[in-house]
Amino acid sequence: MNWQYRSPAKPGGNLRCKGTGVMAEYELPDPVVQISDVQELAPDLVVIPNRRVGLVPNIGFIGGTQAVLVVDTGMGPRNAQKVLDFATDYAAGRKLYLTTTHFHPEHAFGAQVFAGHATFLINQAQAHDLATKGPGYLEMFRGLGEPVARQLEGVELATPDLVYDDSYELDLGGRVVQLQATGRAHSNGDQVVKIPDAGVLFTGDLAETGQFAIFPWFPPHDTDVSGVRWIQVLQHLAAQRPQVVVPGHGDVGGPQLLTHVSDYLELLRDETWIRRDSTMSQETIVEEVRALMITRHPDWAAPEWIASGVGCFCSEHAA
Ligand SMILES: [Zn+2]
Repeated sequence: MNWQYRSPAKPGGNLRCKGTGVMAEYELPDPVVQISDVQELAPDLVVIPNRRVGLVPNIGFIGGTQAVLVVDTGMGPRNAQKVLDFATDYAAGRKLYLTTTHFHPEHAFGAQVFAGHATFLINQAQAHDLATKGPGYLEMFRGLGEPVARQLEGVELATPDLVYDDSYELDLGGRVVQLQATGRAHSNGDQVVKIPDAGVLFTGDLAETGQFAIFPWFPPHDTDVSGVRWIQVLQHLAAQRPQVVVPGHGDVGGPQLLTHVSDYLELLRDETWIRRDSTMSQETIVEEVRALMITRHPDWAAPEWIASGVGCFCSEHAA
């Protein structure tokens, strides 16, 4: 398959970034996980922040008396090895578990390194994504430039050791972590990780801070992302009132982080659908909505995802 990491419509002249919509032209940095600035969110619960580097996720480590759960691997085996080394030190003899928030390369394409060291546990829908869409994403991401391709060298898509359907309670010893499949939103197989005793929620890419929401809308290859479902999932998560939210990318925040993202998605939906009701071409819709969103959020990175968000919402608009 000749996948391209491309927005459904080419950006117009008012885009701040130079480029044609192909991600590789946005000068992607080397997606290196750096074990630094480790943040302690609660006792025995730390995050290696992504330092706002593109294609690097926030990575979590949650400990109990018996075991430690790692959330997300970083992209490729070399990043994941650093994460495993940190996890092994952190666990200090405790058993290791690995889970990934969804199958996208910077979150899950390092899981192979954990084989034999950790029990890899994910939801069924994500396991299906990884097996069926993983190879296409590997090829697509290798086209994102030399630094990304280098990190993806040697990737072999891992098979989970344990798979659950809707939710799973993982007992780490004196601390129970809840893994919950959310249903289709940012991808078909998103899951969140909740640590009730600490009020912490790991959202994966259901939330990002400091940037426009990532819409992996790549018709005809991948049209799983649903803006409509995504809004519902965020509202549902916000109603559970977590105290600390760890987004897939960007700074850790409070519960308002979820509302900020759902407010943005609702605005994107409304502005897209208003124009969709007229006879406006999709290209014009994209241009107008992009300009509006950039005006609303002038400090947010990754405006290339606005166009794919518009494309997704156009497809979800009732005919
Ligand atoms: Zn993602």
